[in-house]
Amino acid sequence: EFAKSKSISQQRQYLPIYSVREELLKVVRENQVIVVVGETGSGKTTQLTQYLHEDGYTNSSIIGCTQPRRVAAMSVAKRVSEEMETELGDKVGYAIRFEDVTGPNTIIKYMTDGVLLRETLKDSDLDKYRVIIMDEAHERSLSTDVLFGILKKVVARRRDFKLIVTSATLNAKKFSDFFGGVPTFQIPGRTFHVNILYSKTPCEDYVEAAVKQAMTIHITSAPGDILIFMTGQDEIEAACYALAERMEQLIASTSKAVPKLLILPIYSQLPADLQAKIFQKAEDGARKCIVATNIAETSLTVDGIFYVIDTGYGKMKVYNPRMGMDALQVFPVSRAAADQRAGRAGRTGPGTCYRLFTESAYQNELLPNPVPEIQRTNLGNVVLLLKSLKIENLLDFDFMDPPPQENILNSMYQLWVLGALNNVGSLTEIGWKMVEFPLDPPLAKMLLMGEQLECINEVLTIVSMLSVPSVFFRPKDRAEESDAAREKFFVPESDHLTLLNVYQQWKANQYRGDWCNDHFLHVKGLRKAREVRSQLLDILKSLKIPLTSCGMEWDVVRKAICSAYFHNAARLKGVGEYVNCRNGMPCHLHPSSALYGLGYTPDYVVYHELVLTTKEYMQCVTAVEPHWLAELGPMFFSVKESDTSMLEHKKKQKEEKTAMEEEME
Ligand code: ADP
Ligand code: MG
Repeated sequence: EFAKSKSISQQRQYLPIYSVREELLKVVRENQVIVVVGETGSGKTTQLTQYLHEDGYTNSSIIGCTQPRRVAAMSVAKRVSEEMETELGDKVGYAIRFEDVTGPNTIIKYMTDGVLLRETLKDSDLDKYRVIIMDEAHERSLSTDVLFGILKKVVARRRDFKLIVTSATLNAKKFSDFFGGVPTFQIPGRTFHVNILYSKTPCEDYVEAAVKQAMTIHITSAPGDILIFMTGQDEIEAACYALAERMEQLIASTSKAVPKLLILPIYSQLPADLQAKIFQKAEDGARKCIVATNIAETSLTVDGIFYVIDTGYGKMKVYNPRMGMDALQVFPVSRAAADQRAGRAGRTGPGTCYRLFTESAYQNELLPNPVPEIQRTNLGNVVLLLKSLKIENLLDFDFMDPPPQENILNSMYQLWVLGALNNVGSLTEIGWKMVEFPLDPPLAKMLLMGEQLECINEVLTIVSMLSVPSVFFRPKDRAEESDAAREKFFVPESDHLTLLNVYQQWKANQYRGDWCNDHFLHVKGLRKAREVRSQLLDILKSLKIPLTSCGMEWDVVRKAICSAYFHNAARLKGVGEYVNCRNGMPCHLHPSSALYGLGYTPDYVVYHELVLTTKEYMQCVTAVEPHWLAELGPMFFSVKESDTSMLEHKKKQKEEKTAMEEEME
């Protein structure tokens, strides 16, 4: 309502931050580093940059504002460009990995923290920025935490540089202390009371429970939009589908007019135009029901929410030392996160939060605060980056909360296996090249192996396809049809080669959109892959790496694939069941894998990642020859116990072969 009736400048003046504008600018003028604390929605992300611009900080330089999430960087840049009445990409722009929407006129640049971190590789003093705002610092994302250490040095070297750290919660003291006790500026809050209702008993199926609760609110409660927190895309889609179904049933079963419900999903892989819909006003009095991941916790603010339904769970990337990799796992959220979620209901007026867990779980089972990402994820990229910044001993780096030594060692081990580090832990030639690519180490390695094996054209496509969300479109009501369409692309020995095949066929059909629709492929995903491919190609060119091709000799491509995933090599144990060669971790072939088309299960495979659902499923799998593993990763397989099983396997094969030969004789 507010957004409808008020002009943009009136909306800006209504934000809590506006009442302290002058004071805030004064503190910025007088200090090199400050911490700004304010409730979600107080205007930190959209206003701070503009205030600084209005106060002259962009006269001969630019302002950068980092976000832990891509969606936030894009949506906030769009909003601010509207507020400043300029085209997105002109005065206000954004940069996320593989997508730079800035130009020569850009003075306010929103970007992911990962993008800024990579910029420090090229320009360690970040000379082009007059001010950096490290936004959403409370999220403690991996890149933000590394930036803390790096920016602290920039602050010491450049007297003209200003750093503003913003945080939604009150653990600002830690940030202030890290920079030697800098001032903390508090934006006065304006929030309404939120009534919190708990489940009486733990709930078994929270998707179902959330859908039911939303329907009850919609039918019986006063106007006001609903926000549901779930863990990820699959659940969100299931919930949206169920909500739509219930609405249809309701409309069919009654002669009375049923109020409209606008169901809107939001998660990071959702295409940007669909994401933007959550901010649009619902037509003729319809109620909005937004179904979100924890992206709506603090990084995106939607006005008009009166009801929050909190499942109490969220997905987190966690390094699992036993698996030797990161896995997205579902965890109960922290108490701080649950409180943030509840707060979303009290921005426009008094609200209600339905917690689908018990009060005792909240008091006794939830952690008070989330664990910073740096303490729970793979540090492969961080290690590469810090090594390339000549920080040889990572334990010397100025971390706010140092990662566990075990994580550092595990990540170094993985880099050593990939050939990026030598025996004394310094970057090898391959390691130095890997740093150039904005890719996870295994994918960078695959590319560079493509160079050696002269099939970089093919590997480049695979890496690009792995860098975008799945291109296979599988509508629930046409599942069989779409599965059949996908199977037509199968290259039976490899899901990776299947991706290559899809891309090449799309290319052969002039990159046409209608061709994608006919074959149940997301045209946007493929276009994105094409963009990523051309950007990676630019990097290859800058490194003077020629674009070699192996034509249709795809076995050599499988070799390159193999070399990227030594840590994810698995050996056949039973039907569709594998164990990781290195640690014996069980992993299963997913029914959607192309390898089912082989008619038998290969003895050795490598996989892109492991996804934990009902079982540990390997995602994106390629059959490999055991001798490739031995050939391409000799150090690794000669030192690990898995070597014995490999030798045993070879011995057994040989025995079987001799037995067969004897029989034939
Ligand atoms: P903070 O960073 O303090 O959480 P923001 O600056 O993100 O606050 O948001 C301030 C206000 O700007 C929000 O309450 C909302 O009304 C508006 N806003 C932010 N982003 C958008 C957007 N993409 N579309 C419409 N309104 C937006
Ligand atoms: Mg913000």
